Amino acid sequence: MMRHLPLIVFVALLGAGPLLLPEFTVTLLNYIGLYAIVAVGLVLLTGVGGLTSFGQAAFVGLGAYTTAWLTTVYGVSPWLTLLIGIALTAAVALCLGFITLRMGGHYLPLGTIAWGISLYFLFGNVEFLGGHTGITGIPTVSLFGWELKSAREFYYLIWLVVLLAMLSVRNLLDSRVGRSIRALKGGAVMAEAMGVNTPQAKIVIFLIAAVLAAISGWLYAHLQRFVNPTPFSINQGIEYLFMAVIGGVGHVWGAVLGAGLITVLKQWLQDFLPQLLGQSGNFEIIVFGIAMVLILQRARDGLWPVILRRLPLRSAGGPRQLVAAEPLPRRARPAPGSVLLDASEVTKRFGGLVANNRMSLSVKAGEVMALIGPNGAGKSTMFNCVSAVNPATEGKIAFLGESTVDLVSRDIARRGMSRTFQHVKLLGQMSVLENVAIGAHLRGRQGTLAAALRLDRGEEARLLAEAAQQIERVGLKEQMFEPAGSLALGQQRIVEIARALASDPCLLLLDEPAAGLRYLEKQALADLLRKLRSEGMGILLVEHDMEFVMGLADRIVVMEFGEKIAEGTPAEIQSNPRVLEAYLGGVESAA
Ligand code: ADP
Ligand code: MG
Repeated sequence: MMRHLPLIVFVALLGAGPLLLPEFTVTLLNYIGLYAIVAVGLVLLTGVGGLTSFGQAAFVGLGAYTTAWLTTVYGVSPWLTLLIGIALTAAVALCLGFITLRMGGHYLPLGTIAWGISLYFLFGNVEFLGGHTGITGIPTVSLFGWELKSAREFYYLIWLVVLLAMLSVRNLLDSRVGRSIRALKGGAVMAEAMGVNTPQAKIVIFLIAAVLAAISGWLYAHLQRFVNPTPFSINQGIEYLFMAVIGGVGHVWGAVLGAGLITVLKQWLQDFLPQLLGQSGNFEIIVFGIAMVLILQRARDGLWPVILRRLPLRSAGGPRQLVAAEPLPRRARPAPGSVLLDASEVTKRFGGLVANNRMSLSVKAGEVMALIGPNGAGKSTMFNCVSAVNPATEGKIAFLGESTVDLVSRDIARRGMSRTFQHVKLLGQMSVLENVAIGAHLRGRQGTLAAALRLDRGEEARLLAEAAQQIERVGLKEQMFEPAGSLALGQQRIVEIARALASDPCLLLLDEPAAGLRYLEKQALADLLRKLRSEGMGILLVEHDMEFVMGLADRIVVMEFGEKIAEGTPAEIQSNPRVLEAYLGGVESAA
């Protein structure tokens, strides 16, 4: 109850608003609500997903013009035009997304600018849409027989939509799909290796943001009862981005705050600045520009987190407790001793540098294979080839008897290979639990809609229970709810192992798992790996601590300058003259 108190107070104030406030303020609040709906979409797209769109105003326009045209010319019911507008927007966003999101980098912002500008001119120049004069006589909307004629009445519909949008985006972010969306910014390589389809996740958030914008446009058209191209220009698109950034792009509440601040400030500046300067003009844009720069310098994540720190509120930091749940099903284990991984003649070139030169190795179920060699020998590169995180240039790799040459890393993850990274790839702001749950991504199937509507709770409980179990297994129960970034680096590596285990793999690739661990922690890790081996897991291990390797590995492959120089049991490797030479050389050059 206490947790929901701020929300309850907010809703109560919202509900009382039209009864107490003057007409002008209600109108202003209506606009804030309309903008907030768009900004909530941008929070998801830009703040969480890291994709910048300047074209949201055009999607608003698409929603507004669809209903304006269909209701005035064909007399279609507004509720039907809402559905048509959403479908049309989704179709356009899909096409646009497919073209621009694939290219990555700056193509999306540029693509959305082009789209924003062209649609604006289309609205202005197409005759049946009324050109720059626009379309008038748009009908009112009725809700269960209640005709929303006045701004005061319409207010309730707008803010109902705002609340629903906030709630569903929040629900979505706190789910299996949500974790994959939150991994897009800064964790896409890791997410793909855990089985997340990141291009699809990008399309999904682009689609949601576009549809929210179109819904805002539909509301706008029926509030104003007339549309023209002006409010859907690229300028407005930039202003939406301002709102999300200033409010706090990572938080749904930031969207409302940003929409409110910008709208009120703009109103006030439009009155005040011309008086102050003695001439008319859009001076508020300059003030916004300066404010944006200042805020980005002082409060990179926008104002909402700053406010949050000063209030006794706690932001939704993911789950804090666990619910009992049935364990997830496990995959069939290959028979101990059967070959899991068979890599032969693998070559990887980076331009002129040959990082792996005709490397061959195999791993069987129930064995620990160690890959050792001096720094820069090409061990991590080999891991990236095997897991297709950075595919090989040439050579054959088979996993469970199937060639992986044409597979991407998420396909390989699905088949039962999981890995950790030498340079730890955790999402530092997310809890240890949520990070590990990303590993279990492929063991759930609930999608975006189920998450937004909170219909995924049963499965979610099972995924989190699995994550929690793996965290306990690696000995980090105490840190389960802490942000992963607050752990010591050695512990973060252990979190990566738990994440890899959460996928229920049959082959585990560990890149320097013991680096940064203390003696006892290393022993605990060795015990864990022995236990996994006895359960039939195949483990491919890169490690510099020779005591650790020699005490654990069944077989060892030694690399130097991208090539295999020796292979054998620990005893054979320790007495191999070529290995000794390579190692002494390695130590010298490292010193
Ligand atoms: P190890 O893990 O054995 O220390 P790496 O596999 O990380 O070695 O690196 C092997 C060689 O390949 C090094 O010379 C490194 O600089 C180079 N290398 C690794 N990754 C890349 C990359 N993405 N682009 C260019 N060169 C790379
Ligand atoms: Mg390495």
